[in-house]
Amino acid sequence: MRYSALSLLMNGLRGNASWKPAWREPEPKPHYDVIIIGGGGHGLATAYYLAKEFGVRNVAVLEKNYIGSGNVGRNTTIIRSNYLLLGNNPFYELSMKLWEGLEQDFNFNAMVSQRGVLNLIHSDAQRDAYTRRGNAMRLHGVDAELLDRAAVKEMLPFLDFDNARFPIQGGLIQRRGGTVRHDGVAWGYARGADSFGVDIIQNCEVTAIRRENGKVLGVDTNKGFIGCGKLAVAVAGNSSQVASMVDMKLPIESHALQAFVSEGLKPFIDCVVTFGAGHFYVSQSDKGGLVFGGDIEGYNSYAQRGNLACVEHVIEAGKAMIPGLSRVRVLRSWGGIMDMSMDGTPIIDKTHIDNLYLNAGWCYGGFKATPASGFCFAHLIAKNEPHEVTRQMRLDRFERGYLIDEKGQGAQPNLH
Ligand SMILES: Cc1cc2nc3c(=O)[nH]c(=O)nc-3n(C[C@H](O)[C@H](O)[C@H](O)COP(=O)(O)OP(=O)(O)OC[C@H]3O[C@@H](n4cnc5c(N)ncnc54)[C@H](O)[C@@H]3O)c2cc1C
Repeated sequence: MRYSALSLLMNGLRGNASWKPAWREPEPKPHYDVIIIGGGGHGLATAYYLAKEFGVRNVAVLEKNYIGSGNVGRNTTIIRSNYLLLGNNPFYELSMKLWEGLEQDFNFNAMVSQRGVLNLIHSDAQRDAYTRRGNAMRLHGVDAELLDRAAVKEMLPFLDFDNARFPIQGGLIQRRGGTVRHDGVAWGYARGADSFGVDIIQNCEVTAIRRENGKVLGVDTNKGFIGCGKLAVAVAGNSSQVASMVDMKLPIESHALQAFVSEGLKPFIDCVVTFGAGHFYVSQSDKGGLVFGGDIEGYNSYAQRGNLACVEHVIEAGKAMIPGLSRVRVLRSWGGIMDMSMDGTPIIDKTHIDNLYLNAGWCYGGFKATPASGFCFAHLIAKNEPHEVTRQMRLDRFERGYLIDEKGQGAQPNLH
């Protein structure tokens, strides 16, 4: 069923009785051409583009929980393509372009809101770094604008401009950046993939990967064995666990990251603001809640929750940027598991096993990458050739020394 103003009107007139479920609940078939492990944003987007762009439709997405239960439904919804390095910038800009047409493409309202992403500047050194990044963005055809202190003050007068440690000197803004309703993305891709015949199988956990003669035969699940021609892994924070099923060790650590939502307030922040120096980022949802977050937990974990020490850090950083935040009540918080790679950049690649493909290492920033990640991973699976914007996102770059270290932090995953 196509969603439109007319279908809304007609269904309304008929008492909303003829809406169909947005996707089916099929039983798994014995064999698929492609199985994707992980019904997060990346797995669902991969299935959608495999079917729509590459004509591969005998596809199953296996999700151990319900779709949207992972990071795709837990993030702070920020999208942007404000990257410096050549290994990153064209990829994230492809993602931004796909976001810009996504709702029309998959016929679902994901509430894409290009309200702007502003990175605050607190020192001369930071201004130099942001100017360099802004120039690199513009050289790649990406929008970037450097704002002085007065321009930031006009936009966001309630920030603490004269904080003793982090006085605000200006900002770098990408006006095409913004937010997207995160679970809408999972639902839109699921509905789109289902409409091309993809089977989305929820509550189906992959427990083992069967191999023969160096190739994957299929997967063992709590719903039995399912065979496949190609196996694609897109399990974000669980990447190392699934890779261990084929005795692979990944250059990835898993850490928890928390998000917070405040009580509803009258609209006062109309863009995304990031305070890189203390690490805090905030936007205001359409319901009025402030949506914000900060650093990951410093220790490794697969538990979808964080600790109080990080809660304190996030609120402290938030108050340094917006003193008025101390009067706001936090309504809820939650955690998700980040697959932190050694250079802060993802991996989209084939593995040493002929028909096994890997999509991992998304760190803090995989939500904004969802459309391009799905598109490029589908390209790789369908053609056995990387898409041109992911040529550098190879697994062996760590071995070869060709890191894509956007932040220049070195092999310290929790700092990326
Ligand atoms: C608090 C928080 C804030 C964030 N903020 C942002 C942000 O503002 N902007 C941004 O760009 N990114 C952000 N991110 C990062 C982003 O959400 C992730 O990088 C991205 O969602 C990961 O890809 P995914 O959607 O496919 O992951 P997921 O949704 O986690 O999908 C992976 C799925 O695999 C499933 N799975 C795992 N193991 C198995 C198995 N054995 N069998 C079957 N299924 C399995 C899991 O249940 C899960 O549903 C944030 C993340 C968190 C947690």
